[in-house]
Amino acid sequence: MATTKPDPPSTVAALRRSFEAGLTRPLEWRRAQLIALKDLLRHGEDALIDAMRVDLGKPAVEIRLTDLSFVAAEIDVMLRHLDAWASPERVRVPLTQRPGQATIVREPFGVALVIAPWNYPVHLLLLPMAAAIAAGNCVVGKPSEVSPKTSAALATLARRYLDPRAVAIVEGGPEETRELLEQRFDTIFYTGNGRVGRTVMEAAARHVTPVTLELGGKSPAIVDADADIDISARRVAWGKFLNAGQTCVAPDYVLVHERVERTFVDALARTLRSFYGDDPKRSRDYARIVNDRHFERLSGLLAATSGTVACGGEHDRAQRYLAPTVVTDVPPGDPLMDDEIFGPILPVLRVRDMDEAVRYVSSRTKPLALYIFSSSKTTVDRVLASTSSGSVGVNLTVQQLAIPGLPFGGVGESGMGAYHGRHGFETFSHRRAVFSKPTLLDPPVQYPPYTKIKEWILKKML
Ligand code: NAD
Repeated sequence: MATTKPDPPSTVAALRRSFEAGLTRPLEWRRAQLIALKDLLRHGEDALIDAMRVDLGKPAVEIRLTDLSFVAAEIDVMLRHLDAWASPERVRVPLTQRPGQATIVREPFGVALVIAPWNYPVHLLLLPMAAAIAAGNCVVGKPSEVSPKTSAALATLARRYLDPRAVAIVEGGPEETRELLEQRFDTIFYTGNGRVGRTVMEAAARHVTPVTLELGGKSPAIVDADADIDISARRVAWGKFLNAGQTCVAPDYVLVHERVERTFVDALARTLRSFYGDDPKRSRDYARIVNDRHFERLSGLLAATSGTVACGGEHDRAQRYLAPTVVTDVPPGDPLMDDEIFGPILPVLRVRDMDEAVRYVSSRTKPLALYIFSSSKTTVDRVLASTSSGSVGVNLTVQQLAIPGLPFGGVGESGMGAYHGRHGFETFSHRRAVFSKPTLLDPPVQYPPYTKIKEWILKKML
C-alpha cells in the first residue's frame, strides 16, 4: 500500500508505472483485489463501525446497512459479472463494410482518482474504487477529512489488504486534494458538493481528463391526495432522517396536496415517535450532525425560517444533536428552500394540485432524486414526463440506489455520469472501437483515381 503521508506526485507516478507494466489488466488480479476488498470490509468491520460512530454518531445497524453490506453486495455483483462485462462486444458490420469484424473493447483508463465525502465515508470511497479496480485501473482514493477517524481506519485497512502497487489512499483535506488534482489522472470520480465539483472539473480540464461528478441538490418528494398517507409518511421519514438527514438522496422537502397536508403532517409526527420515541436524543437509532459548522448552519436555518415547526426543533450544541424536525407553512422563497438542507429538517409546502408541484420542481435546478407518492399511474407518468432528475422513486425514498442494475448519478447541477453495478464498470472503462478486415480481398473501388464507374458503384453502395 502506498504512503498515507501525502506525496501525490510520487504516488501517482508509482501507480502509473504499475499500470503501464500491465499489472491491473488481468481479470485474475482484478478478482483478487475485489475479494481483498471484501476481506477488508469483513475483518475491518469493527474498526470501521467504531470510527463511524465517533465521526458521525451513526447507529451501527445503519452503518452495516448503508455502508458495509451495501458495498459488499455490489462487489459480489462485480465478481459475478466481471467476465461478461470485460468481454469484447461484437457489433453489426454494415453490408458496405463487409467482410470484417467490429468489436467494442472495454479498456481501463489508467490511473483513476476517487474523491469521497464524509456522510457515507466507506461506501462513497470504496464502491467507486471497487468499480475502478474491476475495470482494471490503478486507483488513488481520497477519503474526507471531515470524518477523520474513518479516513484513518480506511487508510490502515487498505494498507493491510490491497495491492500497494496499484491502490493508494491519500488522506487529507482541501490542500491535499488540490495537490492531487494538479497531477494527471486518466479519470476522476468526485462525490460531494457542487462548489468543489466545479473546482474538480476545472482541474480535470487542464489534462482533458474525464470526470464523473456525484453531486447533491434539493430532492423533492411529491405527495398527491390519492397516496397512501401512512406509508408515504413512513417512507419519507425514513429516507429523510436516516443518518440525521445527511444523505445525498434524502427527500429535501415535501410538496403535499393541500387536501391531505394535515393528515400527512400528523402521520409524520406519529411515525417519528414510533421510530425514535418521545425523546429522539435518547434513541440509539438517531445520528448526530457531523461537525460544529454544519450544526451552526442547520440551527441557523431553523432560526431563519418563517415556517411553523410542527414537530422537533430541539437542539443541543454540545452533542451536535438536532431533533427530527418538520416545518409547515413554508413559503416558496423561505431560507429553507435556498440550498440543499443536508440535515434533519423537513419543510412541507402545500400545493393546490400536481401541476403546481411540477411547476415548482421544474423551476429549480435538476435534483439528484425525485420522489412521487400516488396511487395513480397517470399522475406518476405525468410527473415523470414533465420533470427531470438523476433518479426517481415511486412510493419510496432512497431505495432506488439499492438496485445494482439502475445507474446512480445526477443530471444537470446534480452531477454527471453514474455508477453501481455494470454502470460503475462502464464509467471506469474506455470503450475502444476496433474494426478489423481480412486481407484476402481488397476491391479497388474506394481508392483513387475515382473513375466514373467507381463513383457510380459508391453511390449505389452508400
Ligand atoms: P466534503 O466536505 O467531505 O468534501 C468532499 C471532498 O472534497 C473531500 O474529500 C474533501 O477533502 C474535498 N474538498 C473539500 N473542499 C475542497 C476544496 N476547496 N478543494 C478541493 N477539495 C476539497 O463533503 P461535502 O461536499 O460536504 O459533501 C456533502 C455534499 O455531497 C452534499 O451536497 C451531498 O448531497 C453531496 N453528496 C452527493 C452524493 C452522490 O452520490 N451524488 C453522495 C454523498 C454526498
